Amino acid sequence: MQIRLLDQFESFSGESNFFQQGRKCSFVRLHNCNLNCAFCDTPEGEYYFANTEDLVFNSDVVCITGGEPLLQEEAVLDLLKQIRKQKKQAYIETNGSIDWTDMPCPCVVDYKLEFPDLMVNGFIKKIRAIDFMKVVVSDLSQLNFLKTLWKDFKEKTPFLSSPCFCIGMTDFSFYKDINSFCEAEGMHNVIYNFQLHKLLNVK
Ligand code: SF4
Repeated sequence: MQIRLLDQFESFSGESNFFQQGRKCSFVRLHNCNLNCAFCDTPEGEYYFANTEDLVFNSDVVCITGGEPLLQEEAVLDLLKQIRKQKKQAYIETNGSIDWTDMPCPCVVDYKLEFPDLMVNGFIKKIRAIDFMKVVVSDLSQLNFLKTLWKDFKEKTPFLSSPCFCIGMTDFSFYKDINSFCEAEGMHNVIYNFQLHKLLNVK
């Protein structure tokens, strides 16, 4: 089946997920997104079509990311079958705006603080224990809401707090402030999610 790609590359999992951060990982980056986040780090780029049966993965784990992968739901389901045929495991990174809960693999669901209506009234209540809920914090004023979300979801799914990272950043006091807040508020099972690939400036 044809799938619309931006990129396919080998790297390591820079962020926490069901198969662990830091693991060698094949990435399939799909084209197109239905949101327009202010901190989007996905270049628009030229897309191309590939046949899912022709894609080869060199790592044991494959990350299907975007853009928003679920915009190509049928092709993603077929891609997951091809990945399984190659005896690899997969996870999906999604922005949570399209129901992902029928996907036969774990998902990292990015809770988009800048689209509150879409999130609060969306599919997030259906999040599964195999998924990871990720909240990117870009401003300390968001910490109280982070705590509210954590209270609602801490028993349902692993909860990631991700400080927003900019390439070239040298002052990490923001990271420490988030950590101190979580400690002070007793949010002990928050997973502190560094984006290691960005710190190392690799794909
Ligand atoms: S959901 Fe992801 S890919 Fe889409 S605009 Fe936001 S950051 Fe970019």
